[in-house]
Amino acid sequence: MSSRREKQATKKIAQERIEILLTLADGIYSEDPELAQRYGDLARKIVMKARIRMPEKWRIRFCRKCKKFLYPGITTHVRIKSGVSSRVVYYCDICKVGKKSKQFSKSS
Ligand SMILES: [Zn+2]
Repeated sequence: MSSRREKQATKKIAQERIEILLTLADGIYSEDPELAQRYGDLARKIVMKARIRMPEKWRIRFCRKCKKFLYPGITTHVRIKSGVSSRVVYYCDICKVGKKSKQFSKSS
């Protein structure tokens, strides 16, 4: 059994690991897409295991269908739909399924 404090600590560590892994994956994607993909898979496993939510900024980088870590310009094409509410739409080149992200706030 683990205490509430321990659980929260585990979640915090998990979130930090995800951040590190995906930042790393992002940085090496153009040089080593396979390794970046492995980091992406690992981050997803950590999310599931720790029962936390994938941070919004990273969640949109995963294909909803094939669960691959996407990289704009390599495995995904990004379209900015402008209008009253501008939003970014990701198209996954791996499974060719369009992926719609949530509305982007202009401040971020
Ligand atoms: Zn896909």
